[in-house]
Parts: sequence; C-alpha cells; structure tokens
Amino acid sequence: MIRRELIKFAGGAATGLAFTPLPWRLLGDSAIWTQNWSWMPRTPRGEVGEKEANCTLCPAGCAVKVRTCGGTPIGVWPRGEAMCPAGFAGHTLPWHPLRLRQCLNRGRVSSLEEALEASRAAAEGGLAVLDMLPGRTASLLHRVHLSGIANARYIPAPQAEGGTARAMARLAAGSVQLSAELGRAKTVLSVSTPLLDGWAAPRRTAANRGFTLWQAESWRSRTMDLADSRLLIRPGSETALLLGLARQLLQTAGVERRARLLQGFDQLQAAIAHAAPAAAAERTGLSEDRIAALADALLRGQPSLVIADGDPLGGPLPEDARLAAAAVNVLLGAEAFSTRREPPVPKPWRCIECTRLEQVDNHSIGLLIIDEPAPGLALPWAAIAPKLKPEGALVVALTWNRASYARRADWLVPVPVYLESAADAPPPPDTGSWRIAVSPAVLNPPEGAIAAADFVARLAGAEPDSAARLEERQKLAGEEELEAAPAPAFTRILPAGTDGAQLAAAAAANLEGPPVAAHGWRQASVSPLLGKLWQEWDLRPAPGAVTSHPETLRGLGWHADSGARLESEAGQMQVLLEADPTAPSGIIALSAGPAYAQICEAAPNGAWRLKNPKVVRS
Ligand code: SF4
Repeated sequence: MIRRELIKFAGGAATGLAFTPLPWRLLGDSAIWTQNWSWMPRTPRGEVGEKEANCTLCPAGCAVKVRTCGGTPIGVWPRGEAMCPAGFAGHTLPWHPLRLRQCLNRGRVSSLEEALEASRAAAEGGLAVLDMLPGRTASLLHRVHLSGIANARYIPAPQAEGGTARAMARLAAGSVQLSAELGRAKTVLSVSTPLLDGWAAPRRTAANRGFTLWQAESWRSRTMDLADSRLLIRPGSETALLLGLARQLLQTAGVERRARLLQGFDQLQAAIAHAAPAAAAERTGLSEDRIAALADALLRGQPSLVIADGDPLGGPLPEDARLAAAAVNVLLGAEAFSTRREPPVPKPWRCIECTRLEQVDNHSIGLLIIDEPAPGLALPWAAIAPKLKPEGALVVALTWNRASYARRADWLVPVPVYLESAADAPPPPDTGSWRIAVSPAVLNPPEGAIAAADFVARLAGAEPDSAARLEERQKLAGEEELEAAPAPAFTRILPAGTDGAQLAAAAAANLEGPPVAAHGWRQASVSPLLGKLWQEWDLRPAPGAVTSHPETLRGLGWHADSGARLESEAGQMQVLLEADPTAPSGIIALSAGPAYAQICEAAPNGAWRLKNPKVVRS
C-alpha cells in the first residue's frame, strides 16, 4: 500500500466517522437501557384519582386532597384552607431515606415475632408506653390495651404546645382541660413561642389573621419577622417581662379590683414586688415605655391572649414563665380561652389513667415502649433514662425512622407512616373546638410494619384492630366540628402552693451557660426534597446551624464558619457556626432538630437545658 492510499483511507475513515450514526446510536441506546433497569424508579401509570383527607403530620390536621395515580399518591393539595409547605410534600414521607423498613435488634435485622417475644419477657419487670404524640385514637387504644396488663403505665410525652393553657387550667374551679382560642383573640402576645411557624394551624395564622401579634423573643425568628410588633428581649427574661407586665396591668383600677378577689393574689404581689418598670426594663432590655405600650395594647385590644409555651424542638419555657403568663391572662379577663371539647370515646373502651413522666419512679420500668409515629417529636433522653431499671431494662421504639432511637433502643420496630394506615391527628393547641381529622390508608406499609397500638394489643393478648377502632370512633364523632365550651370562672391567679418570692427569684436568675435560643420546625424532616429546597435557597437554617453576632461568638471563643460539635454532658451534635452581623448580640440562635433534645437535660422547671456545653472543632 502506498502513502497516497493510506492518506485516502484515513481521510475517508475520518469523514465516515463524522457522519456515521453508530456513536450516536450507541449513546441513545445506552441512555434508554440505563433507564430500564428493574431498580430504577418509574413514573406511576394508571387511573388518576383524588381522595379527601386530612394531613395528620401535626395537630393542625389541615384538610387536604390526596392526588393518586394508579393508587400511588403523587401530590397533596389544600382542600379549602391553608397548608404549611411540609404538607405539600407529606406524601413523600414513606420514601424518606431514614425510613425504618424492617425490625432491627441492636442493628441486626430481626422479625416482629422476635421483638414481641423479647417484649413479653421484659414486660414482667414493669411495662410503660411513652406516647410521643398524645391525643390520638392510637393513644386511647394504648390506654385500653394497657388496662389488660398488670402494673402497666401510659405516659404521654410532655408537649411544649398548650403549656400556657395547662397552667391556666390550674387556676380554674374544678378539673378542666382548657385551650387558647386564637380565632377569638384580637391581640396576642406570644413569648418565645413560634406562633406563626408551626404552633398554630396555617388556616388561623394567614395574613388576614384577625389579631394583632406582639412577639417577644431573644432572637429574630420567623414569627418575629411576621409579627405586627417586635420585642427583642434578653435571653431568659421571659418571666421578668411577664411579671413586669402583670405589675403594669395592676396599675389599672378595674384590673386590680378584680384580681384582689382571687386566691393567690398575695403571692402574685410578692412575685411582682421587684418587677417595677425600671427593673423589668433593665432585665428584659426593653424600654419602660415599650412595656407600658404593650400593657396598654393588651388592655385596649380585648379579647387578649398571652401564650408562653416555648418551642417544640427547643424545649418548653420554664414553669415560672407559664405561670406568669397564666396570671397575666387572668388579669386580662381570659376571654380567649375555652374549655376543650373531649373527643368522644366509645363506651366499652376502658382506659387506664395517664401517668405524667415526673410521676414515674426512677428505676421502675422494665420494658419501655416508645411510640414515635411522625417526624419532629423530641424529648430529652436524660428525662427518660433514670426511669429505666438499671439492669435488664428493654427499650422498644415503634418508630418511623432509623435515626432517633438507634443508640438508645434495643429494638426498632417499623410502623406505618402518613398515608400508609388510617390515622388521626391530636387536638390542636389553638382552639378548644374539636373535629376528628383522619388521613386514609392509600399505600401499603412495608412488610413487617405494625401500628403501634396493634403491637401493644398483641402484647396484651388482644385483637390488633386499630383501623377498625378508629373507624368506630370516627362514626361516633360524626363529620361536624364540636364547638368549644366557654372557659369556667377562674378562682385563682396563681396555682395553690406557688411561692411568689420563688417566682420573683426565677425571674431575676441569670441563665446558666451560654445564652442559647434553640428553635426548630417540627415538619423540617418530613421530606428531604423539601429540606434541600429550603436549605439551598436559604429559606430556613439547616438543623445544626448556629447563628450569632460575630462579637458574641468571639466572646465565647467559638469560631465562625467552621464545622464543629456542640457537646454537653448528655451528648453531642454537629453544628455549623455562622457569624451574622445583623443578628442581635448576646444570643446564640441554634436551629435544633430532634437531635438537640438528646444532648439536653430536662430541668426541674420543665425547660430543657444544656449542661456544661462547649463547642469543639470537628
Ligand atoms: S404538617 Fe401540619 S400544618 Fe402542615 S399541612 Fe400538615 S397538618 Fe397542616
């Protein structure tokens, strides 16, 4: 072959290669083949349908429509009322990467029968069910089934929401369950409570909400940004603000005359003895005029409501703040409170009494069953651990995820999540009216998943029939919303046994350790897809994000923009420190996921606190 032929061959080959469809064909075919492997997710095909439902991811129980394709939920839409962003992505929860799909025994794949067998053996040492979301039909069923087991206890996990209403109930004649009535209030003072960010149902907190909101908080929260008036207070000064407010209100003759007739007035006077305007201003960082303007707004804008519940993931406010808020509500006439409607319970259901966590003796639980049905529920482990028997106690977490109790529980048992089994929402904290809000079963749960109430039923040797029982209760409740009853007369202004001097001391006490304002959005972990959106677009801080003024960080010796661990005596969590020159100084805002509760201890006053916290570079 001569050189000319070689050049002609090479030129022809190059030209042919440019025009041959072979490489493009190969590219196209490999793209098609790689889309058709058996494990690839596929767009559902089939009949498109719609189901009326309620979102049961939180107590708001919003009315929704679930759109399905071939029986698979593909979207959730509002049904005539507002929803929060998480509700729109709620149907993706069954595919959450942290979803628990099989029984695990200390990390080893196991079976439901083995978990039941181990639980039966441990139950003889004293059984307790810790319900992380009390108030549902499943909660009632726990109590029904536990009535068949000797010495069994049902423990509702303490909830931040409704703390002020529970404090108010201690001031009423007789035993009642009260609720704030947000829809009735014209002026609302929310103290360190995410009133517009998860506390209340979106339908009651839209832009035309019908009440004027004053938000008192030590960091710039979303509720603070959306409030009509903002009160940036010093960390830990909530009780001082409320006692200062009480003293200001008592300057009004009519208010003082009414208050004098109530039991506990002497103690209130002792509590506010040191809450003179100048002292309250000094403690809270607000001006005297600002506190006076707040008192004036609450008096003029009746019915007024004061909520000092705290944060669901950052922890409740201390009891002294809730008592002070209750006293202020009574001074204001408490017109925006109602008696909560008791959800109907079928007559044959026999329930055991609830036992509060603090009533449980230490070292008395041999088998602890934790019912964690949904994301965003937290309780410090340090509050639970002392209740367990030191030797041989078994912890079984009936949970939707692999993370929360992975280190604490001996057994992780999967439960059906939202839209995998019929479930109802607990009563909301913002109204005493009651309407059963049920989400239907649209999908099949993973094999081996069991409803928490059915697990307890099987332990008790009863029929696992939670779905039928919910239907029975739903029929009994009917479709109509039951109107709340008026609140009873308040005979006290502070609960019996409250020491006014101690309340004053609590208001004056300085915070122990660094001033951390922990906050969290319960629905943050409903959908990783949604989380990616709001984190990448900076709509919300990611869990573990710590934001503070550069000088505050410098003063603590914490270095901004570095990955670090926040360590306390109870545990540690990863944090990301960010310096923000626009943040108020003297406060560290920590975006807390449920992991935060695990590094806290529950103080005797009900608040969660970090014991000896320090930040360590990771
Ligand atoms: S998560 Fe709560 S607020 Fe959001 S849509 Fe569901 S019920 Fe409503």
